[in-house]
Amino acid sequence: MVDSRYPLIFDGHNDVLSKLHRTGGLAAAERFVTGRDGAVDLPKAQAGGFAGGFFAVYIPSPVDLDFKFEEMTKPAYDLPLPEPVLWDDAMPVALSQAAILFGLEARGALTVCRTVADIRAAMGAGKVAAIFHMEGAEAIDPDLHALDVFYRAGLRSLGPVWSRSTIFGHGVPFRYPSDPDIGEGLTDFGLRLVKRCDDLGILLDLSHLNAAGFWDVARHSTKPLVATHSNAHAICPHSRNLTDKQLAAIRESDGMVGVNFAVAFLREDGRMIADVPLEQVMRHLDYLMGQVGEDRVGFGSDYDGAVVPGDLTTIGDLPNLRAAMVRHGYDEALITKLCHGNWMRVLEKTWGA
Ligand SMILES: [Zn+2]
Repeated sequence: MVDSRYPLIFDGHNDVLSKLHRTGGLAAAERFVTGRDGAVDLPKAQAGGFAGGFFAVYIPSPVDLDFKFEEMTKPAYDLPLPEPVLWDDAMPVALSQAAILFGLEARGALTVCRTVADIRAAMGAGKVAAIFHMEGAEAIDPDLHALDVFYRAGLRSLGPVWSRSTIFGHGVPFRYPSDPDIGEGLTDFGLRLVKRCDDLGILLDLSHLNAAGFWDVARHSTKPLVATHSNAHAICPHSRNLTDKQLAAIRESDGMVGVNFAVAFLREDGRMIADVPLEQVMRHLDYLMGQVGEDRVGFGSDYDGAVVPGDLTTIGDLPNLRAAMVRHGYDEALITKLCHGNWMRVLEKTWGA
């Protein structure tokens, strides 16, 4: 590979929208275009060969992130989940973050993609391809009217929960060491949500669901099972990671796993400490490919939402990841699949060609 920016990397998860929202809203969007103090922006996308990916709308809870990350540096931890967020409180935030996404598109910084053809066209034109994703369904009402409207606006991916409970289901707390089999799964509203997402062509993200919720989706959805940003529980026994049994179901459904760069989900000791060699990312890739096959693994960085390895601090550092895969012995065809080919495959299966 002569140019370290290729193959382009399409990514299963970033939190730049909620970061921009917290730091000035639409006005902050300008800094996405010119460069900002964070992991994801346009100049870094061009420097690092970032094709785009899932841009999450996420409703924050009033928790102290510094406290959370400090707790997660300990050898074992069990963070209490925040209280549920009510629809009335969630909707204005979701609308603001969606407006930032479309504001970025209006500035020419990215293209909001509704089909795989849209993504391929954006990648071919050198534009950042964004999937409008919601991490947690707090802004969706029980009648699912908001889901229909957001779908019309471009929503193509949804996690029923971001760990914290919603009217649709329950997720995993940030707990290490821990099995993801914690508590009840989807509610009746949640089962209706699964059906409606399947009918519309909205990908259901399993990453923050607990085991019971995961199996509820597996039983009720007709689509491939996708965890956009989770790792192997066999290597890092964190509640957020996927057990071998879950991986077998993902393989059987012809689904997909995006490897998360958050160090707490990469490290064997589950600690939120950035001193992690890229070889640890390769360990998860190898293990996951062994479980689900090389057509069903990609990346889901969690950029702008997590502490990540020092050699992969921003999307501008993605050439280091490509170099690590070459060093590790992956050939070009496999690297291309991991970088974006597998995401295109599963999105086509989920949304239709
Ligand atoms: Zn997440």
